[in-house]
Amino acid sequence: MADPTGFLTVRERELPPKRPVPLRLLDHREIQQRQDGAAFIRQAGRCMDCGVPFCHRGCPLGNLIPEFNDAMWRGQTARASELLHATNNFPEFTGRACPAPCEDSCVLGINQPAVTIKNVEVTIIDRAFEQGLVTPQVPERMSGRTVAVVGSGPAGLACAQQLTRAGHAVVVYEREDRAGGLLRYGIPDFKLEKHHIDRRLEQMRAEGTRFRTGIEVGVDLSWEELAARVDAVVVCTGAVVPRELAVPGAELDGVHFAMDYLVPANRRQAGDELGGELIDAAGKHVVVIGGGDTGSDCIGTALRQQAASVTSLAIGRRPPGERPEDQPWPTVPRVFEVSTSHEEGGERRFLASTVRAVGDEHGRVRALSVARTEYTEAGRVPEPGTEEEIPADLVLIAMGFSGPETQALEDWGLGLSGRVLGRAADYSTALPGVFVAGDAGRGQSLIVWAIAEGRAAAAAVDAHLSGATALPSPVTAHDRALAV
Ligand SMILES: Cc1cc2nc3c(=O)[nH]c(=O)nc-3n(C[C@H](O)[C@H](O)[C@H](O)COP(=O)(O)OP(=O)(O)OC[C@H]3O[C@@H](n4cnc5c(N)ncnc54)[C@H](O)[C@@H]3O)c2cc1C
Ligand code: SF4
Repeated sequence: MADPTGFLTVRERELPPKRPVPLRLLDHREIQQRQDGAAFIRQAGRCMDCGVPFCHRGCPLGNLIPEFNDAMWRGQTARASELLHATNNFPEFTGRACPAPCEDSCVLGINQPAVTIKNVEVTIIDRAFEQGLVTPQVPERMSGRTVAVVGSGPAGLACAQQLTRAGHAVVVYEREDRAGGLLRYGIPDFKLEKHHIDRRLEQMRAEGTRFRTGIEVGVDLSWEELAARVDAVVVCTGAVVPRELAVPGAELDGVHFAMDYLVPANRRQAGDELGGELIDAAGKHVVVIGGGDTGSDCIGTALRQQAASVTSLAIGRRPPGERPEDQPWPTVPRVFEVSTSHEEGGERRFLASTVRAVGDEHGRVRALSVARTEYTEAGRVPEPGTEEEIPADLVLIAMGFSGPETQALEDWGLGLSGRVLGRAADYSTALPGVFVAGDAGRGQSLIVWAIAEGRAAAAAVDAHLSGATALPSPVTAHDRALAV
């Protein structure tokens, strides 16, 4: 155990400093700063090393949290890094962008603020890289079996790394020009700078994973052709088909899906020449429809592009500030969240139902007509007579994602389960040797679930190819978060 009395003597949760808002709005660099020294040790020392550490259950990866808290409290970075990598291929991604369900289930959270687990995680991995502790793990022997992983988001990367280390020859196919999936082109730099991805890709290449970018399977190469070339295929193609805004005026110029806005904005930060592809919020009244992660990333990006105003609309009620009684510990509660983008500016409106987008004589959006949401037996509807117009030159639809693109995969013979790709608990599908992992089978989720699924699918593929496996399988394809 770290400090036996830490949780009694240090009752306050101290998080690392963030860059001041006026400064961080001048660039797209990461917001979070490092917490080193005494404050970090004090916080790691609050961990109680619980007999039944519920933090493990909250984390789909089953991270060895009390063990790495203890190691860091003792200053043992190498040991902490080993413990962390035993369950998580990419702690630098989760340590930056995970909403940390482990902290919602931390036992200390029953009557005190939870241990700062996520900050311990990111400190371990940043120090481990700085100290040269993260090196390629080249397999000792090759199996002679080949695997194609399609999609290079966190699910595909985790799956590929596990299988490569198990001795299989793995090729990752990616339709974009760079690997990383939503880590690269969804999540903005201010949450996750992209050199973290490049550094991991370098490690993966040195281990033997090969990457083929700019190839869309199902278009440039058929799924059948790909499957004929290899011993197993893992489909990790994500789930980014957007939910549509079904109101009059949604087709107006200036109304865009969030990803059509975020992807080029991320490309610009990568230094790409974009031409007309960039949607610039500079000087515009921006309205973001949808109150989730994607909406929040749009707000932060629009503020950095110097929008004239940013308003975000959520159709539901403002969630409570504290964990409600019907969402008890250790579940992940639905509470009012203030993301780093919300701290930076803009107005947040709740109970706001979009009625229509209003255009000018050139077919460009100029306003959004919004009514108060009424809860009825038929669901949430706009309350008649409460409509008002909000000025809007740029409307960003961030209402979530309905599921993956499935047509080519269905034509190939994969089935659906609702709107996502169907698979058994062990990630296998109706087609022998074909597996599905990540958002493609789960629906839009979290990085941590994608990594956990990628690891578990790798174990299933290894067992399929080798008859047995020593790879870990932290979650089944049917496991769900600890939610109410
Ligand atoms: C804007 C945004 C912000 C988010 N922020 C967070 C956050 O802060 N924290 C968090 O935990 N989660 C966040 N998420 C969710 C998280 O990013 C996803 O759950 C996660 O990336 C899913 O991983 P994946 O590997 O399954 O799929 P993806 O990351 O979507 O990767 C799929 C990859 O497959 C490729 N692909 C698709 N079809 C083909 C094909 N036919 N051939 C070749 N390649 C193909 C795609 O180009 C893509 O690169 C966010 C999501 C979005 C959209
Ligand atoms: S539940 Fe919290 S206090 Fe207990 S072991 Fe996990 S991190 Fe430490």
